[in-house]
Amino acid sequence: MPKLRDRSSKVVNHDWPLLERELRKFLPKKAVVSKRQELLVYDCDGLTINRHTPPLAVLPETTSQVSKILKCCHKNSIPFVARGSGTGLSGGAVAEEETLLVITSRMREILAIDLENQTIKVQPGVINSWVTNAVKGDGFYYAPDPSSQIICSIGGNVAENSGGVHCLKYGVTSNHVMEIEVVLPNGEVTTLGGPINEPAELDLRGAFIGSEGTLGIATSITLRLLKAPQNISVLLADFPTMEAAGLAVSQITAAGLLPAGMEIMDNFMINAVNDLFGAEEYPPDAAAVLLIEIDGQENEVNLATEHAIKLCINTGARHIRKAVQAKDRERLWKGRKSAFAAVGKISSKYFVQDGVVPRSSLPKILKSIEILSKKYNLPIANVFHAGDGNLHPLILYKGGSPEIETQVKELGAEILKECLAVGGSITGEHGVGSDKRCYLDWMFTSDDLETMGFLRKAFDPHNRANPGKVFPTPRSCGESARKKVYFQDNKKIKESNLEVY
Ligand SMILES: Cc1cc2nc3c(=O)[nH]c(=O)nc-3n(C[C@H](O)[C@H](O)[C@H](O)COP(=O)(O)OP(=O)(O)OC[C@H]3O[C@@H](n4cnc5c(N)ncnc54)[C@H](O)[C@@H]3O)c2cc1C
Repeated sequence: MPKLRDRSSKVVNHDWPLLERELRKFLPKKAVVSKRQELLVYDCDGLTINRHTPPLAVLPETTSQVSKILKCCHKNSIPFVARGSGTGLSGGAVAEEETLLVITSRMREILAIDLENQTIKVQPGVINSWVTNAVKGDGFYYAPDPSSQIICSIGGNVAENSGGVHCLKYGVTSNHVMEIEVVLPNGEVTTLGGPINEPAELDLRGAFIGSEGTLGIATSITLRLLKAPQNISVLLADFPTMEAAGLAVSQITAAGLLPAGMEIMDNFMINAVNDLFGAEEYPPDAAAVLLIEIDGQENEVNLATEHAIKLCINTGARHIRKAVQAKDRERLWKGRKSAFAAVGKISSKYFVQDGVVPRSSLPKILKSIEILSKKYNLPIANVFHAGDGNLHPLILYKGGSPEIETQVKELGAEILKECLAVGGSITGEHGVGSDKRCYLDWMFTSDDLETMGFLRKAFDPHNRANPGKVFPTPRSCGESARKKVYFQDNKKIKESNLEVY
């Protein structure tokens, strides 16, 4: 029988065969996966450097099944991890400790569409782009658009508070979620938020969105729909230096323009994309290309587009291409949308980092990344949501030896330290998961972490929902992760164990 170490490093026995028998009593045969070769497909998410095969997985189809599954876990004191499409980039959907994997990919129904109130209710396994596909015929769309939108699930988007190209103007997932049905770790079903904008009760949606599966499992989500913009223009400006591209972004924002999205790719990424398509999608000698999308009413779009063109020229753009028709706009976006695939073609192994800096620090941080890339002798391709200051350096590496993986992680961590040094954050939109839990105390005090832990405990008193993720744990981050130090008059008076994780 497999053994699990709990947070205090005691060995805990979990009776997986017993749990499997109990689950099979109410789940269809195919909804329980217990063969090792079948479980292997769930051994990682988009963070492929981190692999753990779960001991058992289930694929429920309804809220009631999820509730019964979690009641079984509760009765047998077994932890669980929710998993959507497994595209997360911080290791969140991986059963790192021996946990039951609860996969929502068969919960793919669109439950209700209410165009009058501009909402849509979906099961968590519904794919992001299906939401827009379901309503675009009526002139509506769902704004948050992660680059993974053709594969990632709405449940995963809610858990990660995902962003995307259009989140600069329209806000990230948390701005578009009205109501969430949640199965709590003890199997009880509850609802957070409601069909009206300002719920009367304590609004706990914000606590759940971005909680990375540590508070329970979302089983249905009501999303806000927007009317699709009538007019859209896309600009592609290329620059001789990254500083000039960064300056263009700052000046466009300072001028009060609010594009739907502003994205930058560096020279490495430009050429990776050109190689992928075997054509010069973007100028191969440019230090950076800046894509700007502007949407709204016709006059507004025309004026803002002309203004943005002038600002790009003033800041040193060499050429500017403009597209208005849908197929021409798609052509300009094609390279950006294929950026990760393009890097994948050059190197099957790469590690995506995710940090945030104030927009004005973009050129400085990119310089630091270049220096770090040389220091570690590892190539880095950059593509980022420039308008949000959200960086995505992709570190390319060969082989999978522990030494090289440690180097890659160290380089990733150094990039995050540089982000913090300029007033940024260690995560933008890919979450903390297991990847960044040991860096959380670079940003937060032990009091901050303890308060977050208290909130978590209110939902999950026994630490069974996605254990070991998000919060620093002694096992992964060393004993200091659980120490709380008390000071009085600047003198250390006591050290005690934080018990909230
Ligand atoms: C090529 C590529 C491009 C990407 N681009 C972007 C981008 O532009 N913006 C962005 O924000 N992200 C991006 N991502 C990251 C990723 O796609 C998002 O984080 C996405 O929201 C994850 O969804 P998923 O269904 O794959 O979730 P998973 O990876 O399966 O899970 C992610 C987390 O959510 C939890 N979870 C999943 N379902 C539920 C549920 N029903 N209830 C509670 N918790 C749940 C899991 O436990 C885990 O902690 C990208 C990833 C890739 C591979």
